[in-house]
Amino acid sequence: MTASALPPARTGTRPGTRTVLIAGGGLAGLTLALALKHANGAALDVRVLDPGGARAERHRGRAYAVAAGGRRMLARLGVWDGIAGAAEPITRMEISDSRLADPVRPAFLSFGDTPGGAEEPFAHMVEAEPLGAALLAACAESGVTIQPAAVTRAACAGGRMVAELSGGERLSADLLVAADGARSRLREAARIGWVGWSYPQVGIVATIGHARPHGGRAFEHFLPSGPFAILPLPDGGALGHRSSIVWTERKADAGALLSGGPDEVLGEIGRRFTHDLGDIALERGPHSYPLSLGMARAFQAERLALLGDAAHVIHPIAGQGLNLGLADAAALADGVTDAMRLGLDPGAPDVLRAYERARRFDTLAMAATTDGLNRLFSNDALPLRLARDLGLGLVDRLPGLKGLFIREAAQQRDSVPRLMR
Ligand SMILES: Cc1cc2nc3c(=O)[nH]c(=O)nc-3n(C[C@H](O)[C@H](O)[C@H](O)COP(=O)(O)OP(=O)(O)OC[C@H]3O[C@@H](n4cnc5c(N)ncnc54)[C@H](O)[C@@H]3O)c2cc1C
Repeated sequence: MTASALPPARTGTRPGTRTVLIAGGGLAGLTLALALKHANGAALDVRVLDPGGARAERHRGRAYAVAAGGRRMLARLGVWDGIAGAAEPITRMEISDSRLADPVRPAFLSFGDTPGGAEEPFAHMVEAEPLGAALLAACAESGVTIQPAAVTRAACAGGRMVAELSGGERLSADLLVAADGARSRLREAARIGWVGWSYPQVGIVATIGHARPHGGRAFEHFLPSGPFAILPLPDGGALGHRSSIVWTERKADAGALLSGGPDEVLGEIGRRFTHDLGDIALERGPHSYPLSLGMARAFQAERLALLGDAAHVIHPIAGQGLNLGLADAAALADGVTDAMRLGLDPGAPDVLRAYERARRFDTLAMAATTDGLNRLFSNDALPLRLARDLGLGLVDRLPGLKGLFIREAAQQRDSVPRLMR
């Protein structure tokens, strides 16, 4: 990004007020906007720019496992109470390792009844639509400006970041946050490299109705083509009970599996589903997404911070992609707020370097874990099957180790950003 590229811009704020622009009104960008405004009030002008106007409808049909740290942050920001009724606590997780033709899928590992384990559910399933709508409403109420425009160019000039919008308008800010998703145009424009690869798999998501209650249980069946997760949603739908599935399938097979009519697709889901949930029906979807792993070589540049999928994309095997983005939002909001309280520049290099240090290790660790789990489980080699089943069995019998895994999943370690504790 070159300083000479863009002519002067308007700040649109009162003298003395600092400005943060957020390009991208996905769930990560909106959460950051709210956290910044919540902590800094009128002292910080926060503006979200998104060509879709960050509309909640674009999240239709998706559901996320929001870990306990993310839930605590949403509660602090005053959003959780409004969506608690649309969230289902995951009280138990059952993991099996089997082949598609196996008549039963014994659980090798289960979480949820660990003595001395988590005091709160380690995650809640939340549908993206109510979560997006609640974040948007809270942003509007707290004074965040949401502007339906894309950021097309950005450059530093005279110690400020200048962003050019799709309509030609130019805005200047102390800090620009690129929360513009995995194909971040701003990351590319800043010439920040990207390391990663595509998986030969797709992620298929759908909402499934079922006749028997799930009782808050989540299931993850490790099948040779990839994990098949069944995640509990609040009751409703034609059969009375609902779950969300995240079905990882080989890319080469997915087209054929999804090309039939709804009955054939439901039949394929039924072959993979958990039998004790009774009759099933397809309520929403299926939608399929390409899967990849990728990480930006840096999470910041001059007056620019990368956030959420713009900084990292991981395999959905552990349902942690958005959770990483929420932790980014918490860490960046903590850093900017500390600088503001001391009367310092919120876009200064030391603020952005501290953000990068706080997030890179966590992100790298999660990317490596999800990639390793996917490689270990998404195959049918007998020695690997024996080794992983022995490992799962061992973890199941050691309460200390299980407690550790639960605390990790619930983001209960000391290093989590302040806003998530
Ligand atoms: C199958 C599947 C299942 C998943 N399940 C889970 C789960 O259970 N739990 C979990 O934590 N994560 C999960 N994830 C990951 C999660 O979906 C993503 O990590 C998360 O949605 C990323 O949010 P984001 O706000 O960073 O980016 P996005 O949602 O991609 O938002 C980017 C926004 O930027 C806007 N934009 C783009 N270009 C510009 C521009 N130039 N200027 C301004 N705005 C721009 C777009 O309009 C968009 O609104 C899953 C992913 C997949 C594929």
